[in-house]
Amino acid sequence: MKELKILYLYPDILELYGDYGNIQVLKYRSEQRGITATVAPYSIGDNPPNFNDYDLVFAGGGADQEQGILAEDLLKYKDNIKEAVKNGVFFLLICGSYQLFGKYYKGVEGNIIPGLEVFDYYTEALEDRKKRCIGNIVINANLNGKETKIIGFENHGGQTFNIDTPFGDVLFGNGNKFGDKKEGFFLTNVIATYLHGPLLSKNPELADYIIKYCLDRKYNENITLDPLNDKFENKVREQLLNRFLYNSFKKQEQ
Ligand code: GLN
Repeated sequence: MKELKILYLYPDILELYGDYGNIQVLKYRSEQRGITATVAPYSIGDNPPNFNDYDLVFAGGGADQEQGILAEDLLKYKDNIKEAVKNGVFFLLICGSYQLFGKYYKGVEGNIIPGLEVFDYYTEALEDRKKRCIGNIVINANLNGKETKIIGFENHGGQTFNIDTPFGDVLFGNGNKFGDKKEGFFLTNVIATYLHGPLLSKNPELADYIIKYCLDRKYNENITLDPLNDKFENKVREQLLNRFLYNSFKKQEQ
């Protein structure tokens, strides 16, 4: 029986935008295929994890205040995290946690929250707290050579700069900053993105891409995941893509 070991960072703090749903989707899509998915939560005060012991590290989004609360604790694991990234452990980071893996996050109050400096990007929120990137978003991502539309919802004041390998091209919505053409940050084993939703509930192919990567790496195989019945997910995707892409084009024509 294959196993997917997930480390879930700060589930009690980075819990503002429903990103826990990504864990539920990963568990569901693994268990439907007879793959055991174990989830180990970690938060402030827990025994320090060894990030290399996991196949996948997940962290969600949170408000500036929560990011400030956990930053000092997260920084304790800077070297271990860098090592795990280099070793190929998969990191799925949503919004607030995405920001904290860069150089720093400058909050809406102008306060600098130091980042892990795992990657060279940095994020600065606009001083006007009403100016936030909020709304539905669709990007085009390349997953193992397959162009894939990824649907989500963004809600961030932070504007992220200095991204050399984005997750995708923005088809609808903002992305890394207002009016950006690019969204997120992407390496073979890192997806850092502004897409809430929860992300994986709207993008089953992306969930399977992550599961396959983790199992291929762990078992040194080229695994073919059994297809699941995604009829409902694909119906929802079709509706959303029509609404966001078709209508947005229709509006442009008027
Ligand atoms: N507090 C950060 C910002 O406003 C992250 C928000 C989030 O995680 N959705 O940009």
